[in-house]
Amino acid sequence: MSGQRALVIGGSVGGLFAAHLLGSIGCDAVVFERNPDDLISRGAGIATHPQLIDIMARLGIAFDDTMGVKVGTVVVYDRGGRAIAERRTDRIMSSWGRIYHALKGRLPPDAYRLGKTLIHVAQDRDGVTAFFADGSEERADLLVGADGARSTVRELFMPALQPSYVGYVAWRAMLDEGEVPADLRAAVFERFALCLPEGEMFIGYPVPGRDNETRAGRRAYNIVWYRPTDPEVTLADLCTDANGRRHAAIPPPLIRPELVAAIKATARAKVAPQLAEIFSRAQPFFQPILELASPQIVFGRVALLGDAAFVARPHAGAGTTKAALDAASLADAIAACGLDPGLERYQCRQIRFGRGLLTLARLEGEHLSAQLKPREQRTAAELQWDVEGVIHAHVSRSAELRKVLDATGTSAPT
Ligand SMILES: Cc1cc2nc3c(=O)[nH]c(=O)nc-3n(C[C@H](O)[C@H](O)[C@H](O)COP(=O)(O)OP(=O)(O)OC[C@H]3O[C@@H](n4cnc5c(N)ncnc54)[C@H](O)[C@@H]3O)c2cc1C
Repeated sequence: MSGQRALVIGGSVGGLFAAHLLGSIGCDAVVFERNPDDLISRGAGIATHPQLIDIMARLGIAFDDTMGVKVGTVVVYDRGGRAIAERRTDRIMSSWGRIYHALKGRLPPDAYRLGKTLIHVAQDRDGVTAFFADGSEERADLLVGADGARSTVRELFMPALQPSYVGYVAWRAMLDEGEVPADLRAAVFERFALCLPEGEMFIGYPVPGRDNETRAGRRAYNIVWYRPTDPEVTLADLCTDANGRRHAAIPPPLIRPELVAAIKATARAKVAPQLAEIFSRAQPFFQPILELASPQIVFGRVALLGDAAFVARPHAGAGTTKAALDAASLADAIAACGLDPGLERYQCRQIRFGRGLLTLARLEGEHLSAQLKPREQRTAAELQWDVEGVIHAHVSRSAELRKVLDATGTSAPT
């Protein structure tokens, strides 16, 4: 793609991988992010997989001890705080901020533009024009929509296709290691911990801390708590701010204080005390869990990537890895076949992969979705977690992801 230009819409992990990998095949790639300020303060834990680590290595970023926190044990606690199942594992838990920082730091400053909201795209025989909310326009040979689950780029081409809510939310929280009481730090901090109240899943694990620090004492504890939540009443109420305004995606600071107090009280009533204690010291927020499968991810010289193309439930912990694999597949296909045939190849491969990942993640999430049925209509399997099955799924995540890649013929590019 030497001498050609690409506009990458969205400056999160997908957009950054796309800019780097297209850059590596000679393309002049520029990222446009709608947020006016640097995104580094976005904090959330990110599980990693070998495929993500391989693509980072390809970009010259070694996944060393500064990139994440190693965990060697998965443990399930019961409501009383007793460990009821335990297994060895070998995972590196990173954070969105750490991966973003590593990728963004290697991009030339003029290749990443903040405060640029894409509103329209036009195409002709010679290329693509992007129109931004500030009135500016940019022209290029290729436009990549890496603008997330509620992608503007996707909506321009497939307005009827919207992500669907799967019946549960994830309450999330991060607590600095220094704020975790010393006895809990010794007991749970370095473990991948689960607690399984009826129909719910509470997960905690260590991640890089505030300044992306992975040294002991400077890390953070990350919590994801999946809770079935009916859309019309409870979710609508959760998404309503103190002024009575309802949001599609409510910003964390606008979540009403009484809802935050209530979820902390629920944690104390339902979750192992050591995990509930950490959760209740943090500032939780929630995200509705969504799913989306695009029937098409290439429209002329426009390609969708990452969550803009497919949103899988987060159980496989592979959204970032998928964004990286999509970007690598796009760059490799264009390098091998040229721009237009390369885009066709990209679409064919990554639609298969997106569908495979969606199916894998749905298998685990179906238990949670089933909880919205009246209790008497739930099967025995839906009423009780299979603890061994859950722990096995966590230990074998990366192997399962490898199987999806192999089965869909989309093995990680080298
Ligand atoms: C509860 C939960 C847990 C998760 N856990 C993990 C995990 O452990 N491991 C993992 O790998 N993944 C995890 N994920 C998924 C992961 O966060 C996403 O898959 C990943 O962030 C997708 O990256 P993306 O770049 O495609 O999209 P996003 O991160 O959504 O970024 C899209 C970007 O585009 C920008 N944008 C949007 N519209 C426009 C526009 N019109 N113009 C310009 N810019 C625009 C946005 O501001 C944003 O910065 C989890 C997700 C959830 C909800």
